[in-house]
Amino acid sequence: MRDAHKIMEKIISLAKQRGFIFQSSEIYGGLKSAYDYGPLGVELKRNIMNEWWRTMVYEREDVTGLDASIIMHPKVWEASGHLAGFSDPLVDCLISKERFRADKAPTPNIGDEIHITCNDKGQAKNYQLAIEKRFNIVLQRNGKNLEGLKVIDTNKIGFFETDQEKESKTFDFPGYVSPTFNSPFLSKEKQFNLMFRSQIGAVDALGDIANFVNDNKHLDKDEMKQGIEKIVKDSAVYLRPETAQAMFVQFLNCQQTMSMKIPFGIAQMGKSFRNEITTEHYIFRSCEFEQMEMEFFVEPGTQKKWLDYWIDKRLEWWKSFSNYPDNFIYRAHEKDELAHYADACYDIEYKYPWGYDELEGVASRTDYDLKKHAEHSGTKLSYFDQQKEDPETGKMGWRYTPYVIEPAAGATRGLLVYLIDAYHEETVQDAKGNDTTRVVMKLHPKLAPFKVAVLPLIKKDGLPEIARDLVNSFMKAGINARYDEQHAIGKRYRRHDEVGTPYCLTIDGETKADNCVTIRDRDTMKQERVSMNEAVKIIIDKLNQSTTD
Ligand code: ATP
Repeated sequence: MRDAHKIMEKIISLAKQRGFIFQSSEIYGGLKSAYDYGPLGVELKRNIMNEWWRTMVYEREDVTGLDASIIMHPKVWEASGHLAGFSDPLVDCLISKERFRADKAPTPNIGDEIHITCNDKGQAKNYQLAIEKRFNIVLQRNGKNLEGLKVIDTNKIGFFETDQEKESKTFDFPGYVSPTFNSPFLSKEKQFNLMFRSQIGAVDALGDIANFVNDNKHLDKDEMKQGIEKIVKDSAVYLRPETAQAMFVQFLNCQQTMSMKIPFGIAQMGKSFRNEITTEHYIFRSCEFEQMEMEFFVEPGTQKKWLDYWIDKRLEWWKSFSNYPDNFIYRAHEKDELAHYADACYDIEYKYPWGYDELEGVASRTDYDLKKHAEHSGTKLSYFDQQKEDPETGKMGWRYTPYVIEPAAGATRGLLVYLIDAYHEETVQDAKGNDTTRVVMKLHPKLAPFKVAVLPLIKKDGLPEIARDLVNSFMKAGINARYDEQHAIGKRYRRHDEVGTPYCLTIDGETKADNCVTIRDRDTMKQERVSMNEAVKIIIDKLNQSTTD
């Protein structure tokens, strides 16, 4: 059933048809990699984020919340290193012109043959000619593949003529090939800033730039660029590329106003923006997305213990809403993968249809961020523990810069994970006894956009009125219920299966006489008749039960 190749197409189509996710600005042709969360998508996203907030903030005395500005003082990004270093190495394929991130590209091993894979035979012919012209070799054409290259060692690939054991020519090999075509003919890596820049203030920098260019016509290209850059920089602001920095910048305010004692955390969720050059896999990597991040401040020397603690907590959290908890794993970062400020890092990964990939990072960020912000702002960002002995002086009372453990999750990426997890196709029999496919989104009831649908069997005889009253009772109890009278009952059940509504309540001709309704369970399709007076309580019990399973 869970056909890896087709599943993404099916989910994307269902998400659009059923109002979960739309292409942004669709009527204008859409904006690449920007998505809108529709009537059901917004509910699912909020439910995921609310559950995160409940677990991370409400249920913990040691974590407090924050909702900071998206646009912060530019010095924040200077101190954090984002302005100088928040860039990914980018590479162009010299043949196909494909541009991609070097750190995300496939890495063939020594001895592997490299087949440049084109879209069709015509393209293979063109690329063969282009490679011949530029590198003076004729690769063998095999359908839409170009063959004859092999990795010789970590930094060389060889060209092998047909049936020859020895290479006739070698080329530099950066350790990776282009993701779409498998091409090893690549440019040098270039840096690219992932932060979106904008301008703040009443005066438009364009006027100053025009004057500068007019007055400095004698400057060469680099000098001119530097001059313009300086003017732009004076009024530049940035859309945050992560929510994390606000928690460091507001460390003292949060700690002091809430009298927090170490260890404690500050949590925040909200939008982040990255000028991603490779947007991929639908909403997995987009330029605008939502994060759920928490900075947990700990005593120096205890970071390993807390890192282990948070990896377990976060992994369990993701699993608790899943039909297939084994699809979530964690993976330690290799030394060369570690960010310069981290002394250890783990990725919580999910088994997406294209393989295991990141869902959340749990990093041990040392005292790097607080120290950097203290240095750049001139504000002491430290903590005084009266009960602890200072390890250096041996006296009671220890002032130190806390270490930080950061569980940083993607909310929109999490939404994709739960859509994939929930998507099921089942063979069931229709009214005539024929096999038919039932698509059902087995979303965890806590995440499902609607918890209950109330369906009058027919649109007359007072059934709609009874159904509407029942919907109101659910609303009063704080349960998102949906009144639905469109189409035949079977079609309505299917519609609610496809959006993941865990329970459908049907009001029929008998209801008036026996004051009972039929509850249909989404997953088992079993039906039970219950008293209408009890319906709200029964559903509340079922929803509560689903969270303690
Ligand atoms: P990746 O390696 O996938 O680019 P990252 O390591 O740069 O991610 P972090 O900076 O650790 O990501 O951000 C924390 C989380 O935010 C990620 O685990 C992911 O779930 C989410 N995230 C990061 N970038 C994006 C994006 N462009 N689109 C959607 N979610 C994102």
